[in-house]
Amino acid sequence: MASNYKPIAVVTGASSGIGAATVVALGRLGYRIAAGARRLERVRRVVGSSGLALPLDVTRLDSIDAFVAEVKKKFGRIDVLVNNAGLARGLTPVAEGRDEDWIEMWEVNVLGLLRMTRACLPLLRKARHGHIVNLGSIAGFETYKGGAGYTASKHAVHAISRTLRLELNGEPIRVTEIEPGMVETEFSVVRFHGDRDAAKAVYKGVKPLVAADIADCIAFAVTRPPHVDIDEIVIRPIAQAATWLVARKP
Ligand code: NAP
Repeated sequence: MASNYKPIAVVTGASSGIGAATVVALGRLGYRIAAGARRLERVRRVVGSSGLALPLDVTRLDSIDAFVAEVKKKFGRIDVLVNNAGLARGLTPVAEGRDEDWIEMWEVNVLGLLRMTRACLPLLRKARHGHIVNLGSIAGFETYKGGAGYTASKHAVHAISRTLRLELNGEPIRVTEIEPGMVETEFSVVRFHGDRDAAKAVYKGVKPLVAADIADCIAFAVTRPPHVDIDEIVIRPIAQAATWLVARKP
């Protein structure tokens, strides 16, 4: 990395899990960080004193506008946008699908990603080389019982990522979709509405990925030479051959 050019990375959902680990990994690589989530105190702790920690709710346009305005004022451009904010809610079959769970997943995972990308594109176009990194999932191309609300939203992330790749063709803006399998973060606690025993059971008898494993992949993708676009990275724990096929030790 040229010493006089400090790239700017924006990370959404930086208060926890993969987003927090990405802030740390990119910070170590010399990126200047602008990070957001709803739990601002946690973002502040993750970012430390050198970066910009801001409140961000990707379901609210006013929050996104205020966030991007601050980034513009402080940095004037964005080199890397990591659309990481996301969640799963519930594990109910379609026949019992809860509207409020589906709406929340779609508001955050799909519309949030659309709105952040749309708002950040003018600043990505001001960078020497822009890069959009979207957190998809193996749920973006696989399905499992009870997972339709989440898998449908991640299938949408996959479609949006591939569409962006077409629409930005000819511009110096890369698009990478990161597609993890099982990663132990707060993800399952959120999915089960705070039920920590249900969340723990997801990882029982298996060594899941950790957030730093995914941050590693993001760091790899963004540090390739600018002509190299890593379109997708699929990463799973060795024990997980499919969303629903996990070899567990008793
Ligand atoms: P996590 O630990 O629960 O972190 C989720 C992050 O998203 C939090 O920082 C949360 O911050 C933020 N967030 C949620 N709603 C938001 C909103 N409305 N506005 C702004 N930020 C919001 O889960 P994670 O595993 O790191 O998940 C990160 C991404 O990876 C998600 O897109 C998820 O779908 C994807 N993923 C996870 C796994 C897995 O197994 N863990 C697998 C594949 C893909 P606040 O609550 O503070 O706002």
